[in-house]
Amino acid sequence: MHPFQYERARNAKSAVSTVSRNASSTFIAGGTSHIDLMKENVHRPDLVVDVSGLPLQSIAAQGGGIRIGANVSNTQVAYHAEVVSRYPVLSEAILAGASAQIRNMASTAGNPLQRTRCPYFRDTSQSCNKREPGTGCAAITGINRVHAIFGASEACIATHPSDMAVALSALDAIVQTQGPRGNRSIPFPEFHRLPENTPQLDTVLQQGELITSIDLPTFSGRSHYLKARERASYAFALVSCAVTLEMDGATIRRARIALGGVAHKPWRTPEAEAMLAGKAPSETLFREAARAAFANAKPLEHNAYKIPLGQNLMVRALMETSGLLPLQGPAGTALASSAGGVAGIIPLTA
Ligand SMILES: Cc1cc2nc3c(=O)[nH]c(=O)nc-3n(C[C@H](O)[C@H](O)[C@H](O)COP(=O)(O)OP(=O)(O)OC[C@H]3O[C@@H](n4cnc5c(N)ncnc54)[C@H](O)[C@@H]3O)c2cc1C
Ligand code: SF4
Repeated sequence: MHPFQYERARNAKSAVSTVSRNASSTFIAGGTSHIDLMKENVHRPDLVVDVSGLPLQSIAAQGGGIRIGANVSNTQVAYHAEVVSRYPVLSEAILAGASAQIRNMASTAGNPLQRTRCPYFRDTSQSCNKREPGTGCAAITGINRVHAIFGASEACIATHPSDMAVALSALDAIVQTQGPRGNRSIPFPEFHRLPENTPQLDTVLQQGELITSIDLPTFSGRSHYLKARERASYAFALVSCAVTLEMDGATIRRARIALGGVAHKPWRTPEAEAMLAGKAPSETLFREAARAAFANAKPLEHNAYKIPLGQNLMVRALMETSGLLPLQGPAGTALASSAGGVAGIIPLTA
């Protein structure tokens, strides 16, 4: 492990100033992602600025929606009554990830900033343009089973691993930041980037730009998250799907769909979203939308399975969100109503 200095941030302003002036420094919050990468020598900062003590720990009403402070833990978000009743997709996505212990430590800002789980990125004996720009990409000719089917480049085919980020994209959340040049509001679908020829950059954040909160806009529809993975818990998504539906009676007024595990960022599906607007929910319609969503997928040697898996997952998520099928949680659990005010995951009983 590379030796480093550790500093506790006194306030947001000084943290931004310190990290923006030193390209070899970084923020840390829960540390559940960043410390692992430092131990594996993937990240080698000279200075770590701990922002976990900054007073960014509240969940508050904000313009009809809610504002979640950057340091609110994933557990606190997932079980917050307003989130469970109004934004169940976010609660379900968080609870589909990691373990209870990790969610207790993981922060609202740190989760969407976790880095790819591409095995070659974490193996310093392999070439990786994301870890070391210009060295090549071992995954392109290697085992690329978990890699991207959308938006990849010749430099990088990695996927983004966060479940929470997929739900935030479908909710059109807004990331609030404080940077060296002032404050910014970044719409979540624009927050993560595609790899292009600079895969070392995961997001549009600048060096030293601090996330202060994530805002959920007002939303009164139904929402739901489903995740396909290799075992029922403690595994990253092969493919996942976050759905929000706003209804006019029995007709879908507006649909937003984001896919996880398929691209370098949560992948919104504008073609499918447009096909659903103004229509009544049906399995036929949802199958057409899923075909449209994956029409431009570009599978690699080992990951073509993500297309039928993703299409079927999307149809199921839409069926459950619209009420055509009972809601199922990600790990063999049935969920309470996502449209009403009932909280939490209920174990499936026979
Ligand atoms: C074994 C294991 C299994 C996991 N499984 C899943 C899973 O299934 N699904 C899933 O989604 N996640 C999973 N995770 C990842 C976990 O959710 C993340 O590690 C966690 O959310 C990161 O949050 P943190 O606060 O610990 O971030 P940290 O490790 O502290 O930081 C992560 C990044 O965020 C930056 N950062 C932190 N706070 C700020 C801020 N306020 N402003 C700007 N930058 C900031 C840091 O500089 C760093 O780059 C798993 C992790 C582990 C270890
Ligand atoms: S896919 Fe991206 S992260 Fe993985 S080895 Fe290639 S460049 Fe690195």
